[in-house]
Amino acid sequence: ARKPIDHRIVVLGLGRFGGSLAAELVRRGWEVTGIDANPQVVQTYADQLTHTAIANTTDEESLRQLGVSDMTHAVVGIGTDLEASILTTSLLADLGVPKIWAKAVNRQHARILERVGAHHVVLPEHEMGERVAHLVTGHILNFIAFEDDYALVKARAPEEAINKTLADSGLRSKYGITVVSIKRPGEPFTYATADTTVYSGDILIVAGRTSEVETFASLT
Ligand code: ADP
Repeated sequence: ARKPIDHRIVVLGLGRFGGSLAAELVRRGWEVTGIDANPQVVQTYADQLTHTAIANTTDEESLRQLGVSDMTHAVVGIGTDLEASILTTSLLADLGVPKIWAKAVNRQHARILERVGAHHVVLPEHEMGERVAHLVTGHILNFIAFEDDYALVKARAPEEAINKTLADSGLRSKYGITVVSIKRPGEPFTYATADTTVYSGDILIVAGRTSEVETFASLT
C-alpha cells in the first residue's frame, strides 16, 4: 500500500465518526494519531491506530506536546459537545495545521466551525439523510452530490431513451444532463458517446446539476 509519510493526521475525538475515520485511514496507509479524553475509548483504538493519546483536545499545551502543530491534516470528530468542538477547531487553526476537517451536527455549528478556521466541514447525519432519501425513492440507484450543486447519479434508462442513440434522444438539450457512461446487464460500464444506443435494462451514469439529474432519474 502507498504510504504517504508526509501525510500525518490527527483525529481528535474517537466517537463513532472519528473512530471509523481513523481506522479507515490506517488501512489506507496513513500515519494516524487518535486523541480522546475518554481512556476506555482510547483503549479500544490503541491497537488499530499508529499513535493514541488520552487528552483534552481543548488544552493547547497537550496538543503541542502531542505534536499536533506538525501535522499536515486534522479531523475534529467531536460533535455533541459543541464547546469542545469549537475550541478544538480554533486551537488547530492557531497551531497552523494546514488542513482542518471538522464534523458538525447542524448548519449553525458548521458555520461557526468555518469561522473559527475549519477548512472543510462535514454534516454526516444531514448528508446521509439526503442520500438515503434519494435511495428510498428507488429512482436513483446511487449518487454523489458534489459542492456547487453538481451531482453524478446512477439510474435506470428512461423509456424515451430506449432503442435510440444518445444523439437521437437528445437528453442533454431536454433535461440539461449528460450521460457519461452506460452499462448493459452482465457487461461492464463503457463510456457513452453520441452514437451509443441505449437498450431496455441499461443502467446510466448521468452528470449534471443536482435538480436536473433528480428530475431525469425520476422519469424511470
Ligand atoms: P459520534 O457521534 O461520532 O460518536 P460524539 O460527539 O458522540 O461523536 O463523540 C465524540 C468523542 O469525542 C467522544 O469519544 C468523546 O470522548 C470525545 N471528546 C469530546 N470532548 C472531548 C475533548 N474536549 N477532548 C477530547 N475528546 C473529547
